[in-house]
Amino acid sequence: MRKIAIYGRGGIGKSTTTQNTVAGLADMGRRVMVVGCDSKADSTRLLLGGWHQKILLDTLREEEEEESLEVFCKEGWGKTLCVESGGPEPGVGCMGRGILTSIGLLEQLGAYDQKARLDYTFYDGLGDVVCSGFVMPIRERKAQEIYIVTSGEMMAMCSANNICRGIQKYALIDSIRLGGLICNSREVDQEDDLIKALAEELGTQVIYFIPRDNIVQRAEFHRKTVIEYAPDCEQAQHYRNLATAINQNTNFVIPKPMSNDQLEKLLVKFGLFD
Ligand code: ADP
Ligand code: MG
Repeated sequence: MRKIAIYGRGGIGKSTTTQNTVAGLADMGRRVMVVGCDSKADSTRLLLGGWHQKILLDTLREEEEEESLEVFCKEGWGKTLCVESGGPEPGVGCMGRGILTSIGLLEQLGAYDQKARLDYTFYDGLGDVVCSGFVMPIRERKAQEIYIVTSGEMMAMCSANNICRGIQKYALIDSIRLGGLICNSREVDQEDDLIKALAEELGTQVIYFIPRDNIVQRAEFHRKTVIEYAPDCEQAQHYRNLATAINQNTNFVIPKPMSNDQLEKLLVKFGLFD
């Protein structure tokens, strides 16, 4: 089983991209589990057709509820398995700890066992390593393969670079590798070339360029992935292509984060400060 973590700045499109990619993998006959690691608990809504999910950490808090996999692991579109870890109560406790508690319980209840026949687990919602808690899943070897969602906007690129700093730190002691950048377009000028240049500097690849398209919001309104809502549209094909690219990926690296100066030079070169 491949264990994949999706990182990226808040609002960049991690949950949307993850669920559409997972739908693409499910379409190819792969068996996939998604574990939402965001207190917003919106990592599986498009696969489940709405907010029907029991949040794992909440279930643990309500002690009268019996702990069984069926309670918080629901089957979604394409026979995907959907879990929402949830987070600590606002301002209390550490997010990373909560995720590890959730993963520990999933392990204990056999979610990752052979008989589950999982090809992939995706961890979505891990933010951008501003807090060391967010790197816990990689530090504790719960995920080995990382993709960073970014766009050509400056803050998204800064985040991607920071995430690479976090990965580099832990990759040295472990088998954690970066599989590439996913560019989720914000229609910045020369975005394609800009993100290719960023990937090159970081020693990685752009695994796919996802265009911006309002069909994503329409599908979201209907609580569906684009693949379910409009399977024949171009955007659905882009997500299928990304799923194929991840499925076939063999380019795994320890990234080389850029200094702030280097990053600034890259932005200047592409005219972001003109
Ligand atoms: P994150 O999980 O990183 O916080 P989300 O996946 O929730 O981000 O995405 C934020 C918003 O951006 C959502 O409303 C989603 O519909 C929109 N979005 C994401 N990707 C695209 C895209 N390629 N085209 C258009 N809208 C998008
Ligand atoms: Mg999200």
